[in-house]
Amino acid sequence: MNVLTGLNTVKFWPGPAQEVDLAAAVPVPEGWSITSGGAPGPTLDVSMLVEIVERVAPWLDAAYLVPKLTSDRPWGGMHSAALKSIYVTYNARSQAVMLETLYHELFHAVQRRLSDDLKQRIEDHTYACARRYDDEKYLDTPLEQCARLFETFAMYLENGGVVITSRYESSWLPSFLTHVYSGGFAREVLELDRREAAAAVKAERRAAMWSRAKTFLPNFLREGI
Ligand SMILES: [Zn+2]
Repeated sequence: MNVLTGLNTVKFWPGPAQEVDLAAAVPVPEGWSITSGGAPGPTLDVSMLVEIVERVAPWLDAAYLVPKLTSDRPWGGMHSAALKSIYVTYNARSQAVMLETLYHELFHAVQRRLSDDLKQRIEDHTYACARRYDDEKYLDTPLEQCARLFETFAMYLENGGVVITSRYESSWLPSFLTHVYSGGFAREVLELDRREAAAAVKAERRAAMWSRAKTFLPNFLREGI
C-alpha cells in the first residue's frame, strides 16, 4: 500500500492511481462511504496539506485525502470526532476549494477541543457577522457558521491577507482565529494533552504504590479501605 505520510499520525491516500482499496483502507463512520474517482490533479501539493494539518490540529489521528465521500449525498469533506479524523475530497472544483474544505474540517476538530466558555464566545462573535442560509438544521447552526467563518478567514491569510488587531473587543474574534490558524491553539491543546497523560501516569503509579502499601498496613488501619 502506498501511503503518503508526512508524520506518523497523518495519512493521505492519493487515490486509485495508487491501486489502494480505499473502502477497505480508510475507516469511515457508519453510513459513510468512500468511492473511487479520478486521480488527484497534478497541482495537488500534498506536503502543504500535511503541514496545515500538523499546524492547526496535530492531535488528530488521521487526515485522509479521498476521491469521493458520500452519505446521504456527496460531501466535500467531513470531520469524525469518534475516529479523530478528517476527510477531504480531491474532487473539489479546485485546489483552492480543497484547501478551504481542509480548513473548514480542521476547525470542526478545533471546536471539539474548545472550552464551553470559549465556544460560546466564538459563537456570539460569529453570529454578528455570519451569512444565513435559511437552513436551521445544518448550514445555520453555530458549528457550521463558525467553521465557514474560519475557512474564509484562513483563505484570506493564505492569500496574503493581514489582520490588524487592536485592544478593542471587536478584534477578539480575528485575534483568536489567527491564533488557531498560526498553530498557537494547537500548541495549547498538545500541552494540555501532555499534562493530562503525565497526570494519568502519576495517578496510576500512586494507585499501584498504595495497593502495595495496603498489604503492610495493620488491620485497624486497613478497615474501610
Ligand atoms: Zn461543516
